[in-house]
Amino acid sequence: MSRQKKDKKATTKPLEVVKYGHPALRSKGRKIEKIDESILTLAEEMIETMYEEDGCGLAAHQVGRSVQLAVIDVMPAFEDRPSRAWVGGREIEVGSLMPLVMINPEIHAVGDERTIETEGCLSMPGLHNEVERPARVRVVCQDIDGSTLDFEAEGLLSRAAQHEVDHLHGILFIDYLSPETLAEHQPLLRKFQAKSFPF
Ligand SMILES: [Zn+2]
Repeated sequence: MSRQKKDKKATTKPLEVVKYGHPALRSKGRKIEKIDESILTLAEEMIETMYEEDGCGLAAHQVGRSVQLAVIDVMPAFEDRPSRAWVGGREIEVGSLMPLVMINPEIHAVGDERTIETEGCLSMPGLHNEVERPARVRVVCQDIDGSTLDFEAEGLLSRAAQHEVDHLHGILFIDYLSPETLAEHQPLLRKFQAKSFPF
């Protein structure tokens, strides 16, 4: 009897990432009541898409699905932009959380420290800008198996979690920019919009 090797890549396919201007990006995601087969498949396909697009995070809204689901993997960028994570006050290996699937996440700043770092978004390729955010956050969400995940994060993981949870509420990182800075990015934003609404 031969043992069939399970090849995840054969069963999942990357999805199309919608660009700025797509209405899904401005919607508030529905809460996921039941983690059924369709949610498991969506999570797997989103992870695949995130790797395919060289992103460190992806929200369901970005593949046109307005539900409270986002995925993150900060390990490929770890050397340049490290992360730290704690569970129950104890520091853990960040890699043990990756790839991270966040279902119905809630996020809160821990402490008053804030950091300014560059962000980009797979829905606005080529657009980068510095954004100020809380340095450390606590995230409470459901894992893909339905269990509760409760962790604190700093570094890229903190920033990525804030960026992705914002997506789930229809918020984009450009919403934090000053009107002057936003005006500088308008030509590129209009290009994305024209692609989302070609008529
Ligand atoms: Zn984004």
